[in-house]
Amino acid sequence: MRVAVLSGGVGGARFVRGLVEALPPRDVTVIGNVGDDVEVLGLRVSPDLDSLLYALAGLHDEERGWGRSGETWHALETVAALGGESWFRLGDRDLGLHLVRTQALRDGERLSVVTARLAAALGLNARILPATDDELRTWLDTPAGSFPFQEWFVARGHRDEVDAVRFAGEAAPAPGVLEALAAADAILVAPSNPYVSIWPILAVQGIRGALAARRVPCVAVSPLVGGRAVKGPADRMLARMAGGTTPAHVASCYEGLIDALVVDESDPAGELAVRRVVTRTLMTDLAASRRLAESVLEAVA
Ligand code: GDP
Ligand code: CA
Repeated sequence: MRVAVLSGGVGGARFVRGLVEALPPRDVTVIGNVGDDVEVLGLRVSPDLDSLLYALAGLHDEERGWGRSGETWHALETVAALGGESWFRLGDRDLGLHLVRTQALRDGERLSVVTARLAAALGLNARILPATDDELRTWLDTPAGSFPFQEWFVARGHRDEVDAVRFAGEAAPAPGVLEALAAADAILVAPSNPYVSIWPILAVQGIRGALAARRVPCVAVSPLVGGRAVKGPADRMLARMAGGTTPAHVASCYEGLIDALVVDESDPAGELAVRRVVTRTLMTDLAASRRLAESVLEAVA
């Protein structure tokens, strides 16, 4: 079975790690969010693509939830000591990847091509595609003003309530994205933040259309467990923008685009416009990620 999976960073990467245990990695194409991408210290950082690369290569830091394990921070300490821009956490090991990507982009390589090269260099067999090679950036409208994603998330610690999410930039699907969606036997939406991880992917002209016109099942996994986010602001955003944190509120983020929603046993019952699949969705370790992936694949089989 070939699958295409829409994914953000941490929650998405945890899920995709299980997916490539449950399926031959060659049959998995990940379509990753680039709305969080940012220029820091002259470097081009793609946090969600990097979370996917690191997780699939087994280089990720399980506890921190982002970045690399065994990380050190000497370069950033030097930056701070010299009065440079140090609000965005870039570890020494992580920096190596950003240097390679930034140089490649500066030389005119497309993001999808660099990403494929990085994945191959890390020995990955699954395909990781950015949703787009074009510049598409997520903006948050809050009572304190409008902020680009990383300014809201990292610099301000995502404490501002969000009234609306916007996407700046005209973006076409990266080469391979529409082909992967067309070739897939099932389309999956990872347990990522709907607003700031999945919506930016769906904001790409063509991707939303492909999902709306799908001929194969599309199943989303809820990022909430018992109505609460495992990490991050998804629950607060749902409460404010969708009016609640039940499975129905999560499903409303994907109206017309999914056929089923996978929710946790601890989530509230109640009416749902799509098929409900109930299982344990907390990915405490690789075995749990794999079990969740298997349940999702069973639901689309
Ligand atoms: P980000 O781009 O790094 O913020 O990552 P994502 O958007 O992909 O993932 C963030 C979401 O993952 C949060 O809303 C979490 O609630 C969710 N998440 C993290 N771990 C788990 C888990 O074990 N199970 C489920 N169901 N969701 C999770
Ligand atoms: Ca992200």
